[in-house]
Amino acid sequence: MSDVLIIGGGFAGVWAAAAAVRARHEAGADEQALRVTMVAPGDDLVIRPRLYEDDPQSKRVSLDRVLGPIGVRRVTATVTGVDTGTRTVTALGRDGSALELSYDRLVLAAGSRVVTPPVEGSQHLFDVDTMPAAARLDSHIGRLPVQPGGAERFTAVVIGGGFTGIEIATELPARLRKVAGGDLVRVVLVEREGAVGPELGPGPRPEIVAALEHAGVEVLLGVSLTSLDDTRVTLSDGTVIPTRTAVWTAGMRASRLTEQIDGSRDGIGRLEVDEYFRVVGVDGVYAAGDTAAATVEDGHVVMQSCQHAVPQGKFAGANVAADLLGLPQVAFAPNPYVTCLDLGPYGAVLTLGWDRRVAQKGPEAKQLKHSINSEWIYPPVDDAQAILKLADFRTTWPTEAVDAVS
Ligand SMILES: Cc1cc2nc3c(=O)[nH]c(=O)nc-3n(C[C@H](O)[C@H](O)[C@H](O)COP(=O)(O)OP(=O)(O)OC[C@H]3O[C@@H](n4cnc5c(N)ncnc54)[C@H](O)[C@@H]3O)c2cc1C
Repeated sequence: MSDVLIIGGGFAGVWAAAAAVRARHEAGADEQALRVTMVAPGDDLVIRPRLYEDDPQSKRVSLDRVLGPIGVRRVTATVTGVDTGTRTVTALGRDGSALELSYDRLVLAAGSRVVTPPVEGSQHLFDVDTMPAAARLDSHIGRLPVQPGGAERFTAVVIGGGFTGIEIATELPARLRKVAGGDLVRVVLVEREGAVGPELGPGPRPEIVAALEHAGVEVLLGVSLTSLDDTRVTLSDGTVIPTRTAVWTAGMRASRLTEQIDGSRDGIGRLEVDEYFRVVGVDGVYAAGDTAAATVEDGHVVMQSCQHAVPQGKFAGANVAADLLGLPQVAFAPNPYVTCLDLGPYGAVLTLGWDRRVAQKGPEAKQLKHSINSEWIYPPVDDAQAILKLADFRTTWPTEAVDAVS
């Protein structure tokens, strides 16, 4: 029997597991020939793209309900080491036990983490990167009414005006108003560069600026955070903003597990992979999702995004199974790149292509974002046939999504 071991139960890991099982079925092989195991610390697929919303604790799907019906073995543990020479992985079980897991092929899908800055008072920063962090922010907002009533109480400062910063900044005024009981609410978005959404380019910017204005978000450009405590932040130009809620959103880095693999890594720690998701130069190891720097259309490198993590997982899973079963592998070919950015009560903006041409905006794009966030990024549960159908690497978007962007 050959063992496929997948590290990580996020979008890439879940779809890698399902696609490996699908490929095994298609080859007419059974579990005696190829066993698929996932190791992840938690019991849920966390719907990370929704963690900027309120009630973040509900944004999860039970891994057992997705993987159980298709016979993927699950180990609840945090991987601490990868030895690519002996093909073993060490992990710490949830009960504190030390585990050793061997593999014939490894898929590293341990995702990414936001990197908080080394500024004085950084322990006071909130973020929306993980379920516990988003839950901490949510519960903090819920407790603001019992805090002393200075200007800092219902003021939030979001640091980082990229994708996540814009989504949380346009969402926060309504979330704060819900608890403020008519008191004044203030949200400030701080961006180091000279424009909001610097990486999103000029295409969607007019929509972003209009949405921030519509939500009453103040924007401070060309400044960064220098220090904070529990009642104020200080910015690089000396500005002091009273706040109890400073949310850090800038800078994602691939999981530190990538450093245990002797491949080359890009500036944000992602492993270089070939078109089949094999880590270049490391036998038996594949990487997918936010840990992998895969090349897509026109030589672009994938974004750390759910949109890319899902197809990467599907291709990596199908290829790892093909590799072990002696079948041909398939080169990565995801759907064309799009972005759909939530802009709070104003709506959303859908862009097409790497130059991000605006294709939909306002309520129409909001409806699309709603479908993406509430349906399309959720895997089917309790239904092996539906899960394996969607695990096909040829169907990386639902038909409605293809219609919406074509
Ligand atoms: C607030 C927010 C909004 C976002 N909005 C969007 C959006 O609108 N569109 C979009 O496309 N993308 C969005 N993203 C990005 C998207 O969520 C990620 O790119 C995506 O989740 C990456 O999938 P992944 O499977 O690679 O990693 P993850 O989803 O991070 O999953 C990683 C998995 O690995 C596990 N893991 C980590 N370390 C270990 C270890 N040592 N041992 C074992 N398991 C481990 C984790 O527990 C988790 O199960 C957003 C992200 C955030 C935080």
